[in-house]
Amino acid sequence: MKWIDRLFRFCPECETRISHKARYCEHCGAWLAKSAWLPEGSFNWGLVSEILADLLTEPTVEYPTKVQACRAVLQSTRKGAGLIAGFEDRIRSLSTEELRKVYRDTFDLTPSFSLEVGKQLYPTDEDERDKFVAWMRQELRSKNVKITPYSPDSADNLILCLRAIARMNSARAEDFASAVLPAVSKIAAAMRAANNPFENLLTTVEWMLTPS
Ligand SMILES: [Zn+2]
Repeated sequence: MKWIDRLFRFCPECETRISHKARYCEHCGAWLAKSAWLPEGSFNWGLVSEILADLLTEPTVEYPTKVQACRAVLQSTRKGAGLIAGFEDRIRSLSTEELRKVYRDTFDLTPSFSLEVGKQLYPTDEDERDKFVAWMRQELRSKNVKITPYSPDSADNLILCLRAIARMNSARAEDFASAVLPAVSKIAAAMRAANNPFENLLTTVEWMLTPS
């Protein structure tokens, strides 16, 4: 049954048997397609979305390596590579501890930079915000993406939105990107005004979500 081995492989995270072509594991949600180009020849936008979600997560010692990996994946898109290189320049002189402090001051303590997309989109309309959070929760659950460490009420976090978008088919991803884009542009503009180094990262996310 050798030909069957060529059609399937095992997920490195949960060891479920999955298709060789799978971009992510439908069982545990893990992202699997790690090269810039997919086997059928199209650019791996899902990987970009996943890496940007990782970069929006609180920095660890591996952070500079992850930023470099992001630039390498974006190499064939001149604009994207330039944007992430700008981010790399702005954080180059910071130690991990300094970077973590900037991260916390930015995303945990400054409401205008909050990554809660629903709140950014509907600051005064709680019903619309709740609807958006419920939509996100459903998207994530349908793909088995883990919501933790975020609470189900914070399923609209941009990090989770980017993980959801990576796993959508292209038509749905386009609709979703246009729904999320105004929130990302709003955060990026607030950061620009405050000279915050994460502006370059948000601008990269904004570029990715903008239709070409
Ligand atoms: Zn798995």
